[in-house]
This record gives sequence, C-alpha cells and structure tokens, in this order.
Amino acid sequence: MSNVRVRFAPSPTGGLHLGGVRTVLYNYLFAKHHGGTFIVRIEDTDQTRFVPGAEEYIFDCLKWCGIEPDESPLHGGAYGPYRQSERKEQGIYQQYADQLVKDGHAYYAFDTPEELEKMRNDHKTAENPSPQYDHLLRMKMKNSLTLTAEETQQLLAAGTRHVIRIKMPEGETTSFTDMIRGEIKNETSLVDDKVLLKADGMPTYHLAVVVDDHLMQITHAFRGEEWLPSAPVHVLLWKYLFGLDKMPQWAHLPLILGPSGKLSKRDGAKYGFPVFAMNWTDPKNNELTEGFKEKGFLPEAFINLLALLGWNAGTEQELFTKEELISLFSMDRVHSGGAKFDYEKAKWFNHEWIKKLKVESYKLKVKELFTSKGILINDDTAFEKILELVKDRCTLLPDFYEQSVFFFKDPETLDADAVKPKWNADKAAFFSEFVTVLCVIDDWQLPVIENAFKDLATAKNIKPGELQLPLRIMLVGGKFGPPVFVIAETIGKDATIKRINTALAIFAAF
Ligand code: GLU
Repeated sequence: MSNVRVRFAPSPTGGLHLGGVRTVLYNYLFAKHHGGTFIVRIEDTDQTRFVPGAEEYIFDCLKWCGIEPDESPLHGGAYGPYRQSERKEQGIYQQYADQLVKDGHAYYAFDTPEELEKMRNDHKTAENPSPQYDHLLRMKMKNSLTLTAEETQQLLAAGTRHVIRIKMPEGETTSFTDMIRGEIKNETSLVDDKVLLKADGMPTYHLAVVVDDHLMQITHAFRGEEWLPSAPVHVLLWKYLFGLDKMPQWAHLPLILGPSGKLSKRDGAKYGFPVFAMNWTDPKNNELTEGFKEKGFLPEAFINLLALLGWNAGTEQELFTKEELISLFSMDRVHSGGAKFDYEKAKWFNHEWIKKLKVESYKLKVKELFTSKGILINDDTAFEKILELVKDRCTLLPDFYEQSVFFFKDPETLDADAVKPKWNADKAAFFSEFVTVLCVIDDWQLPVIENAFKDLATAKNIKPGELQLPLRIMLVGGKFGPPVFVIAETIGKDATIKRINTALAIFAAF
C-alpha cells in the first residue's frame, strides 16, 4: 500500500446528497488509483445538528455504491477513533487549542450571545451590514486580549462560559496550491476570528479538520468548494501547529449545479428527480426525500454518472466500470467550474448499464419489485430469460415491471382503440379459427406458432402484418413488448388461447 491516505469526512446531519457521494467517489478513486487508503471520519462535533440514523445511512449508501472504506468507525483502523465526538472525549482537541492560546495565535473569548448581538448591531453600517468578530472589533470585546491575565484566569477558574478563537493576523497573505485551481492566496485581514473550540469543549470543524488530518496522516484532502473561504484559517492552523510542509494537498471540488444554481434538495422535489443516494426520512418531520437507489438506478450507473459530474477521461468514452474509473482517475482532469446535473442524461446512463450488465446482476432487485406488487417468481431461469427479452426497453428498474408484467398475468386493460379502426368481421373470423388451430398444437414452439399464424393468414387472404397488432394487443394489452410470437411461446398455450378469447369478446362489441 502506498502512503496516500485520503478521507471522506461527512457530518451526520441528514441524507447524502449527490455532491457528497461525488466527494466520496473522488476520494475513493484517487486512493485506489494510487494504491492508498480510503478513510471515513465522522465529523459529529456539532451536537445541535446531530441527526439520529444519519451515520448508519451514510454507510448504507457507501455500501450500495460499492465503495468500501479501508478505515472508519465501522471498519476500524490504526488511527481511531474515527468519530470526532469520541476523539473529543479523549481530550485530543483541547490540548491543541490550549497550545494555540499559549503561543499567542488564539485567545479566550467570554462574550455572551447578547454581547455578540449588541456588537453586530452597534457596528452595523451600510458598507458593512454584518460586522464580524475580527481584528477591527476584537479589541472592543470581552476576551483574553482585552482583559488582564488575572481577570482572564479568574473567569476561567470560575468556569465562565467561553470559546477559543483564532487570532487572525493583520496584513498577511496565506497561500496554498489547490490541485484543481492552482495557487490560492487570501488576505488574512479579511477573515474573522473563527471559533476553534466551543463552550461545550467541542472543537469546531476548523480545528478538528486540521488536527485530525494531521493525526490520521492524511496526504490529500478533497472537499466541496464551499470550504474555500475557510481555507486561510486552515492554512494558518497548519502553520502554527504542525508546519506547512506537513499540510495535505488540497482540492476543492466544483459545485454540482441544478436547473437553477446550486443543486438542492428542493430542486429534486420541484423537478421530480432524486438528489440523495438513497431514500432518506428526516426523523424531525418524517419528510421523505427520494434516493437514486429506490428510483431504480443501478449502483454501477450511479457512480459512473457521478464520476463524470466534474471529471472526464479526456476521451469520448462515457461508460466506465469502477475498475476503469480507478485506473483512469486523476485530479488534474477535474474541472474547476460547476458541473451541471442533467437528469435525462442520468437516466441514459442507467439505461446503458441495464443493457450492459448481465440481468443476473440485478435480477434480485427486479424480483423484489415484482414481489412487492404481488407477483411471486418461482422459476428463476424463466425470469432471467424474460428480463433479457425486455431489458433494452428499460431505463429505470421499475420499468421492468411495466415492460414484462404481461408475461406473468393477463393484461388488465386492452388498448382497444389501437385495434378498433381496422377491426372487421374477417379479422374476427381469423382469430376464432386461429384459436382452433392453436388448440391442436402439441409442440408449443415459436416457429410452429408463427407458421400456423402465417399459414392461416395466407389461407384467409389477410396480410399477416395486419393481424400482428391485434394479436399483440390481445396478449400484451398495449402496443409494446418483444416480438409477439416470442410472447406467445413464453406465456404458453393456455394463456395465449385464453387472452385471444377474452379480447375477441371485447372486440365483438366494436
Ligand atoms: N464535515 C465537513 C462537511 O461535511 C467535511 C469537509 C471536509 O472534507 O473537510 O462538509
């Protein structure tokens, strides 16, 4: 194994959005491409946003996608614990926050929520509508920079609620090289004094991400571009705590865009497509957000389409197996501009994968679908043959039901309108006689049925082509499905005869 170590660091706050799964995927592909280690670290330090079940859900999604972590709270590993709440219990973060204070890079701040509110109101101007706790205002607040050392000690000794904030330097420039965007520079004076350790002793993301990436020996850190504004804080923390030469190489992944700006959960509801990997029910309000899995996507198609949302192989190829993605993936082919999600294209990927894969690989899922609709499948070999017959017509897995249900039960309705305009007594007579012919066929095979049909048509002087559509409507119910004699052969003699008779009774009323 190489020394490449990457991590996906989700906060367990809800469903796993397309952008989140793409971040996992790029981490995973990069790690596997380099023979490295893929780690999942649960960033659960924000207790107010903790959602029960969200962590299990994340692991279920990864499993469905076929992305197995090498190290995680579930898989173990030598750099645990892999949940930040458990790391906090071990006092890991506090010592680094204390060290930053000692070195003059951070300070204790005792301001109450009311005092913070007052600061925002008092200093609000037209040019600066939301003043920040920064180098301009910190000396007007209640913190260890404005209090004497004794006052500070007294407040600390009395257990006064406080946070630890980074002291952003004035007039410095931070810089780092982003693997996608190149050199990124930031003016430190423009960034506020972010909280590093909260009043409950929990680290904020800013402190925890730096400490954990260091302790877990992360070599490359890929995250969404929404984290770019915080990067100068992280660069400084690396500099103060561990040295810039130890900092992982960063890449900030482009946004995924929906029909109107950044893709959101609301877009899914509005435009009728899934945004989460799997169904997610918010325990707060029982609100269900649909997932790609339940919508009928194959995991192979899902990771393929996600890989191409922001990356390309530099060729025309669009269909990639996971193994191909692993061998071809590189960060320098990830674009910096937003990647537009197109649901029609996503469905195209699924259709292609349904055709590409052996039905055996998704047979069970389709079988479950049939069972949920009350159709029990006993003969697996026959079932596979049927799926094979209709797979070219299916885009999402539930399409298999509509496209093949007539193999398992008589059609509930017949598209009589498709037959009516050209129906006549000759055709009715043909089908009555055809039933008689079918009754005596012993060898129920496609060529025998087809020949009987054609011979009778010739004898009756009707073009077989004119009789095939009515036959299809009789057997299937509508104008779709595989070749009609294949259907007759597959459903068997009794069902074929019964369906023709049922339809004849209906058509007699035309
Ligand atoms: N917990 C952060 C998030 O959920 C992780 C960002 C990162 O990967 O560093 O966005």
